[in-house]
Amino acid sequence: MSTATRSISFRLYPDKRQQALLDRKHAVLKDLWNAALEERIGAWRRGVRIRLSYQEKALKTVRAEVDGWRGLVHTHEAQTVLKRLELAFQAFFRRLREGQTPGFPRFRSADRFRGWSYKEHGNGFKVEPRPGWRHGFVTLFGVGRMRMRGIARTPGQILKGDVSRDARGWTLNLVVGTECAEREHDPDAQPGAFDLGVETLATVAYADGSFERVENPRHLAEEAEALWAEQSKLSALARARKISKRALKKARKEMARRHAKVAARRKDFLHKTTARLARVLSLIGTETLAVRNLTRSARGTVEAPGRNVAQKAGLNRSILDTAPATFLNMLRYKAEEAGTEFLEADTRRLKPSQRCPDCDAVRKKPLSVRTHDCACGCRLGRDEAAALVLLRWAMAEVASRDPDAPPRDGHPAGTVGVSAAQAA
Ligand SMILES: [Zn+2]
Repeated sequence: MSTATRSISFRLYPDKRQQALLDRKHAVLKDLWNAALEERIGAWRRGVRIRLSYQEKALKTVRAEVDGWRGLVHTHEAQTVLKRLELAFQAFFRRLREGQTPGFPRFRSADRFRGWSYKEHGNGFKVEPRPGWRHGFVTLFGVGRMRMRGIARTPGQILKGDVSRDARGWTLNLVVGTECAEREHDPDAQPGAFDLGVETLATVAYADGSFERVENPRHLAEEAEALWAEQSKLSALARARKISKRALKKARKEMARRHAKVAARRKDFLHKTTARLARVLSLIGTETLAVRNLTRSARGTVEAPGRNVAQKAGLNRSILDTAPATFLNMLRYKAEEAGTEFLEADTRRLKPSQRCPDCDAVRKKPLSVRTHDCACGCRLGRDEAAALVLLRWAMAEVASRDPDAPPRDGHPAGTVGVSAAQAA
């Protein structure tokens, strides 16, 4: 990932109820700042230095004790307030070391407390910029989804954010990585849609009639599982006291390092795959991902003979299970950045896995049936058929907005998708 970052500001437009929630969150976090500061000053007077990790651990208790905290304040919001205080104290100690006589960091009144931050997009806050990054929506934990206004000249991947209040109202500042700004469509990009699975992570149907299977990187899941096995062996040794504390500590550290490595490689694979798809697709269709759909496909894969992903252990499967959601999120934001329309069909209405992409007939297929074999003569793999239904639906959606528009290049034969959408 590129290190070049850029900051973008958006004005927030909360409604009355959200305004009240924002004010309350602001008050709770201001109190947290003041309480944490008081604790640090008291400790310093006793000659003790309090660390950030100590105060972060205390959050668990604080959360249970403070009225109105639960459901309103996200852990990352609280952690970033504590982190800001830590930085203020570091500066305080630095000045002390330099022989100055600095004052303590200050207690904050409601007017002097700026706000809070978010460490990671999707964790406590979610931004939905409109195509071209002009305005959009943001969802804040405990507050809800609200309109935001602002224009990004250099869009990118959202890394962090912070929310602040001033006399004019609320502002969201985003830090974005700018490497994505260079991402462009291929000159021959075409519409496509995908069906999500577990072993086959995604089956993509392209408008030119071709299909692509994106396989889950199984070797990474297997590696992770091998690691877990080693780890439980280690724990058994530790329980039986057959290993020294020192050796145990060292082994655990090594294990954590290897876990992180596998996780990083999985993430890298998903980033590369979604980046490529966002480049080659000019319109993306899929179905709304529900947990139900995921477990269904997980079960489906296990039931299908010869395709059992994870009969031997639930863990391997649980690792694979997280991939579709990550894949979907990554592709969604990369499509947004590229200005590519991303359409999600209502699964229950469209029934992509039961509908025939050619004749539109709906017939229930048991999960074990891996092929689509329709009376109309349409024969495809189950996942391919579902992806094709989604593709035709997405293209019909776009076409129905502008009835005079000529069909795009590579429009699949027939207008089945239109009837599919109308029937739904
Ligand atoms: Zn058919």
